[in-house]
This record gives sequence, C-alpha cells and structure tokens, in this order.
Amino acid sequence: MPRVPEYDVERLTAPNPGPMTLEGTNTYVVGRDPAVVIDPGPSDAGHLDAVRAAATSRGGIGTVLLTHSHGDHSEGVAALGVEPARPADGEQVAGLVAIATPGHASDHLCFVLGHACFTGDLILGEGSTIVGPRAMDGSLGDYMRSLERLRELDLEVLYPGHGPEIRDPQAKIDEYVEHRLMRERRLLAALDRGERSRAALLAEVWDDVPAELRDAAAVAMQAHLEKLQDEGRLPGDLSD
Ligand SMILES: [Zn+2]
Repeated sequence: MPRVPEYDVERLTAPNPGPMTLEGTNTYVVGRDPAVVIDPGPSDAGHLDAVRAAATSRGGIGTVLLTHSHGDHSEGVAALGVEPARPADGEQVAGLVAIATPGHASDHLCFVLGHACFTGDLILGEGSTIVGPRAMDGSLGDYMRSLERLRELDLEVLYPGHGPEIRDPQAKIDEYVEHRLMRERRLLAALDRGERSRAALLAEVWDDVPAELRDAAAVAMQAHLEKLQDEGRLPGDLSD
C-alpha cells in the first residue's frame, strides 16, 4: 500500500509570470499554531496579503524559511515581519530538516518534512531549472550532487518553488539527472570530434531550444563547460 501523505500544506502562487518562473513563485504555508512560511515570494502586495491571511488562519507565522536568496523567492520576506531562519545542513527548524542543495544558487536549501520535500528551484513542477555558471552563483557539479542527495531520501511528494507538486519524486529526479547527462554526452561527443567553437557547440547541443531562449542556453552551456573543466575533461583551446 502506498503511504497516504497527510501534510498540512497550502500553496499560494505569486502572480509574477515570466519565461523562467512558470506561473509564478510558490509560497508554502505549512502546519499551524504557528505556521511555517517557505519562500514568501516577490514583494507583491496581493500575494503577501494572501500569505498573511493563510498564516493567520493557522495561528500566525512562527517561522519563515527561504530555499535561496533569489528575489522571486525572498523579496517578500521583510513584509512578513519575521526574520527568516537560516538553518545549516541537517539542522531541524519547526519540524523541517534543512538539506544543503547548492547548484542553482550556492545558498540553496531544501526542506524535508516526513516524506515530503520543499525543493525550491532544485526541481520544478514543470520544465527544467536554470543552473548558471559560477559568475551567476551557480555550479552544475554541485547541482548534480544535490540531485543525487535528494535521490537518497525516501520521498513521496515534492513541493517545488514553481509549478505543481510532484507525486513521483524518484522518476522526476531521474528525468532531471538524465536531462543534464544527455547535454553533457552531446557536448563531449562534439568536443571529441574536434569542435572548438562555442557558437557551434551551442547550436549543435542546444538545437532544440527556441531562439528566444538561446541566451539562457548559452548560460547553461557555460555551466556545463565549467563542470567539464573542473573534472579535467575540457580542451583548453575553445574559441568564440
Ligand atoms: Zn532561483
């Protein structure tokens, strides 16, 4: 028999549509007397009113947690009037265990509650997340290790920072790992063949990406190149 999750979780989605945020950032109000707020979201008055109202009906806000410091998750924190807790890896706060999951951002945390996990931007409900190079505070090597770390946990539901909840965590984690490995395999194949032009590598390996997302793809490629470099697998003679 599959376990039936009984998590007292309310999702409020901020209205900040953009190409990278799906329908907007998710704020989660968890438990009661008092409630935990995970990722207040952007500083949108209507959204924050809804978060406060949800928390008030649950006995008020006891704890605020941030998965990471990107503005679409954290800007609204000041308006809630509760200092966010910044737990260390493995530390428990208000019944949730923080797991350090760097990669999308160096300060990224996931929060585990029983067999549920609030994943921030480590894993999204739709599409795939952006992992940038070091210049953007990202690390694809760290990101892959963070996915592996999540895979080792016994989880039955993921509550992502964007998009709907995920009821098949292991399959989604596998999909995320495979997606990055597919890019890496194609990148390595082109490099092995002798391709050294960044523009040509981008056009070949990210050939499925629409033109308006080509800049994002270039950022993703840079993160891949840094990972390969860290692993001693990147030729030193790339050109623009
Ligand atoms: Zn983010």
